[in-house]
Amino acid sequence: MSALVLDGKALAQKTEEELSARVAAMKEKSGGQTPILATILVGDDPASATYVKMKGNACRRIGMDSLQVELPSSTTTEQLLAKIEELNANPNVHGILLQHPVPEQIDERACFDAIALEKDVDGVTCLGFGRMAMGEEAYGCATPKGIMRLLEAYNIALEGKHAVVVGRSPILGKPMAAMLLNANATVTICHSRTQDLAEHIRRADIVVGAVGRPEFIKADWIKDGAVVVDAGYHPGGVGDIELGPLADRVSAYTPVPGGVGPMTINTLIYQSVDSGEKKLG
Ligand code: NAP
Repeated sequence: MSALVLDGKALAQKTEEELSARVAAMKEKSGGQTPILATILVGDDPASATYVKMKGNACRRIGMDSLQVELPSSTTTEQLLAKIEELNANPNVHGILLQHPVPEQIDERACFDAIALEKDVDGVTCLGFGRMAMGEEAYGCATPKGIMRLLEAYNIALEGKHAVVVGRSPILGKPMAAMLLNANATVTICHSRTQDLAEHIRRADIVVGAVGRPEFIKADWIKDGAVVVDAGYHPGGVGDIELGPLADRVSAYTPVPGGVGPMTINTLIYQSVDSGEKKLG
């Protein structure tokens, strides 16, 4: 059996063409206005700076503006909260991205939760998470929502399937599990205290690796015909799952790189365009 490759890079590129057309239509209707994504980078972590730059570039590719806010690493929680309030009140800003992680003196959760729900296009607020989990309208957390969009684009059946999510972080594992549950999968969430991890994974029709350790999930834990989603990305182009031996015995998998990664930024801009349309028509 040759597995279906869930090509996030191709889907992101195709979606960018559609988003460009939507932004152009908005611009025309609103007399030249485009959605604006405000990105906030606190401190000088080079990886975070790169991610923010990539997000700004993605906005530019689809003709959307971004407002880049850079704050020093000495920023306090109060200062960051004040900046977020200012962006919440700015009618020209349609989405707010606070780049994770922020320096440790900052209460990151309080700052995420200060983002207005209608501008939470990265899906990081507790309110947005709760609404999403309840099946109410809210922007999804970008990485798991990107995974759901990828699975949907390839018509991967989720209803009644047993999905095992390895990882329970607020930005990935937990919202991933809620989204799969909302899609009528039967969901098991595994984490660092799970016993017999390999046994749980062996029963999975769908495996999502969101552990943060290179090739931690071994190929021989995964059953034939499973759908494999690898959210990890590590130096050397490997993910959280040992993908090499799986290509000819699973039914579908996300490559690393080019699977989940491109869908995260794509979902951020997709949801920003959506937010812009709600205001600009
Ligand atoms: P994280 O916050 O470090 O969470 C890792 C999760 O893995 C935790 O829930 C942890 O369990 C669990 N875990 C750790 N060791 C384990 C073990 N031995 N057995 C089972 N579970 C274990 O990481 P994250 O932010 O969710 O990211 C996960 C992965 O996704 C990373 O590789 C990251 O690079 C990648 N990622 C990719 C994107 C993208 O855009 N492509 C975006 C975000 C993250 P506990 O809760 O018990 O500690």
